[in-house]
Amino acid sequence: MAVVHDPYEEAKKQLRQTIDLLGLSEEIYEILAVPERLVQVRLPVKMDDGTVKVFIGWRSQHNSALGPYKGGVRYHPETNVNEVIALSMWMTWKNSLAGLPYGGGKGGIRVDPHKLSPGELERLSKAYFEAISDIVGVDQDIPAPDVYTNPQTMAWFFDQYSRIKRGQYFGVVTGKPVELGGMETRIIATGFGTAVAAREVANKLWGGVAGKTVAVQGYGNAGYYAAKFLHEMGAKVIAVSDSRGGIYNPEGLDPDDVKKVKNETGSVINYPKAVKKLTNEEILELEVDILVPAAIENVITEENADKIKAKAIVEAANGPTTPEAEEILTKKGIVVVPDILANAGGVIMSHIEWVNNRMGGWITEEEAKTRLEQKMVNNFLKVWDYWQNKLDTTKYNMRAAAYAIAVDRVVRAMKLRGWI
Ligand code: NAD
Repeated sequence: MAVVHDPYEEAKKQLRQTIDLLGLSEEIYEILAVPERLVQVRLPVKMDDGTVKVFIGWRSQHNSALGPYKGGVRYHPETNVNEVIALSMWMTWKNSLAGLPYGGGKGGIRVDPHKLSPGELERLSKAYFEAISDIVGVDQDIPAPDVYTNPQTMAWFFDQYSRIKRGQYFGVVTGKPVELGGMETRIIATGFGTAVAAREVANKLWGGVAGKTVAVQGYGNAGYYAAKFLHEMGAKVIAVSDSRGGIYNPEGLDPDDVKKVKNETGSVINYPKAVKKLTNEEILELEVDILVPAAIENVITEENADKIKAKAIVEAANGPTTPEAEEILTKKGIVVVPDILANAGGVIMSHIEWVNNRMGGWITEEEAKTRLEQKMVNNFLKVWDYWQNKLDTTKYNMRAAAYAIAVDRVVRAMKLRGWI
């Protein structure tokens, strides 16, 4: 039977390991293991047929030592409170590691958005934002898109908040449509950032990414753009997958061509130039230089870690590798570029959008992309150097270094504020 993983338990385990590594006190663990504030909201929504359906949503505000809470809102039928708390804790570390002036937060609604009409989704989104309107704000908590939410959802959030507060508060959410203060570059940001992180690890391991083979699990926003930019950087993307399965061509796939087929037919598996189809388990176990998990959490577990043949794993998805699996990967010498580093491009671009909103729209798309790339490179090098110089690399993977840097910055901010 498959092992069930509770993301909150895993997030606490990672925190515990970092506290021990940094030699910090038990009281610091106690403070950081629990969100500062956790809100549950009940959302009755009038459906198109006149009935009322009740949905449950959450906003977890994990830590604000470094600034306002920041993190996405997820709409998913299996979202639960522990997942939302874990994701909010990961946002604290991601924002801290990226050097952003943000704490960590995350929200979610337990709903299958595909079963709702656009009108029902609008009413649900506006009900959610109204319910949390007193705890969000430009300098308080700034939500953004996550799984199954998008710029349209952010437009509804922004409108609802602006209506309630009687103003135009563009900076209350990021990932907005361009017409409402969003950046064009937001759409590519996570995947582009992941590709930059993959290029940097390839530079360290092999002196460059050109000609290196890549497999990408998940072909949505993060996975497609990671594949596209790695292809442009000269890497050979030999396998990609989505929820219906994967495709393989040892000569390399053209990511844009594959995306076109996915858009037209609903899945990458209909791509005609593939030589073989793969299951989602097989794509993870493929012989490649770089594996990019870009779908869901907990896909690399103690059950398959031993079979992974990639030399580097660059985590576009949040939490794709369980701690037990990582121990096995570390023993095998597989380098893991952790999610809080590899998929930070989205939140880094969100920060640029938020700054731009406060400046009345001053930053160009070109400046935004250049800044994102610089930040990804600097962050990668910061973590790599810490890992190489301060840790035993046969015992610890890059994640330990990323967490050490991130937790240390939050703890220093808490000390300066006099919280501890
Ligand atoms: P998305 O909905 O655009 O794409 C998800 C992709 O994964 C789809 O192609 C889907 O078919 C595929 N998928 C779903 N279940 C699968 C399964 N069991 N096996 C294989 N493929 C499966 O989502 P996204 O925005 O690309 O997010 C993907 C991951 O990246 C999530 O973990 C998300 O939290 C993380 N992430 C995304 C962003 C962002 O800005 N988009 C930022 C940070 C982290």
